[in-house]
Amino acid sequence: MSEFAIKLESPSDFKEVWKECLKIIKSNVPNLTYNTWFLPIKPLELEGSKLKIQVPNSFFIEWIDERYNTLINNMVKTVLGDKGELVYVIMEEDDSEQPEELTFESEKTAVVNNIQNVSSDKAQKAELSEPFITNLNPRYTFDNFIKGDNNQLARAAGIAISDNPGHTSFNPLFIYGGVGLGKTHLMQAIGNEILKKNSTKKVIYLSADIFTVEFVEAIQTDTVNEFASRYKKMDVLIIDDIQFLIGREKTQDLFFQIFNMLHQSGKQIILSSDKPPKELKGLNERLVSRFQWGLTADIQPPDLETRIAILKNKSVNYGISLSHEIIEYIAYNITSNIRELEGCLIKLLANSSLNEKEIDFELVKKTVKEIATNRPSNISIDQITKVVCEFYGVEENKVREKNRKKEIVLARQVAMYLAKKLTNASLKTIGLHFGGRDHSTVIHAQNSIEELIHTNESVKEEVTSLRNKIEYSL
Ligand code: ADP
Ligand code: MG
Repeated sequence: MSEFAIKLESPSDFKEVWKECLKIIKSNVPNLTYNTWFLPIKPLELEGSKLKIQVPNSFFIEWIDERYNTLINNMVKTVLGDKGELVYVIMEEDDSEQPEELTFESEKTAVVNNIQNVSSDKAQKAELSEPFITNLNPRYTFDNFIKGDNNQLARAAGIAISDNPGHTSFNPLFIYGGVGLGKTHLMQAIGNEILKKNSTKKVIYLSADIFTVEFVEAIQTDTVNEFASRYKKMDVLIIDDIQFLIGREKTQDLFFQIFNMLHQSGKQIILSSDKPPKELKGLNERLVSRFQWGLTADIQPPDLETRIAILKNKSVNYGISLSHEIIEYIAYNITSNIRELEGCLIKLLANSSLNEKEIDFELVKKTVKEIATNRPSNISIDQITKVVCEFYGVEENKVREKNRKKEIVLARQVAMYLAKKLTNASLKTIGLHFGGRDHSTVIHAQNSIEELIHTNESVKEEVTSLRNKIEYSL
């Protein structure tokens, strides 16, 4: 256990533990999000360093997991130690009996109301005959996006676009750069700013892997036209992590159509990727060339000055006061990524509030070291699948198909379980890697393997040895 973990003395401590978690969440998410998505959660029990919490339905898990995966991982490790885990339990166990589409849709509408209310007016409500989710997280704004040499061009283009979406030469705006550098923040800030200026604009944000999953669903339910026309109606289409379209020919074809349609009618398109368009091997040439029609802007790792500015700004927001020496120390030692700078502050904040202790230099040094040693490796879901399939002697494509043979189901579930444990991928992304299964299948796999680990010694050993193999040899 990390030394930040609080000491647990009695089984009723689960409530205290959850309270500490809520404190961290509250200082990191907007109030509306906190009240809507986190307050309704009930802590159930604490088993070792595993906290069970009850959520009203599976859509909660998906929503939280999509947006706050990193925050929650950091929070759990901070409050419960490095082995800390959160287990979700769904309140209405029998909601699986209802057709999933139905519950899902009604929940979606609820979210629409929630999010739209933030900046809604009557005209907009009337106009929104067909509700949709903007998916924008109000936390991401220009106000809290620190300007630096590393993001200057992308940010300036973003501001120009928010003033005049669709009518600048930055269409599409293509933002690329490494992980944790602010792509998602910037694109959502553009969307939020556009809505702030004109709440009747139809702005939608989603990641390309979700676009793919929804497309597969649309094919299965024979609703491809409805699916496409939903996006063709948008004024601003923001698609994150476009590299997820690689190797998905049909999705690319449909996206090409949507792109052309929107572009021709002067609608704004904003895309992001981990690489510049030309380096996206496996993406159709005609898409690559269209991506270069507007402006391609990179975001680089922040330089020292920017890192210091970010730390100063965020520590003020979190309500912690840090001396200049401490800020410099963190900025000199955490260099690659803004997400890690934030992670460091969250850990410091949690520790000082848990132990009611000043943040001193010693604590800062330890925290920085922890962040450096717990840096998530680059294990991919595909690598995990490969190792697991080799181990169980099943073909890799079998776990992606609808095959219910016992050994294949076991391999699939173990691979899903390890993917959740060893990567930062969301439930949706994991489902996507296993033949487009949905998030509830991944949750089910997690629960089944958890259960087996407790009841079946040999599965326990298998999972442990697979985990070691993947973590230490890849
Ligand atoms: P990416 O999409 O490039 O992986 P994110 O946009 O998710 O990165 O950024 C990671 C975290 O860092 C987010 O919490 C974001 O708010 C923060 N962040 C990134 N860039 C900045 C910036 N320039 N100013 C303030 N916070 C930033
Ligand atoms: Mg991102």
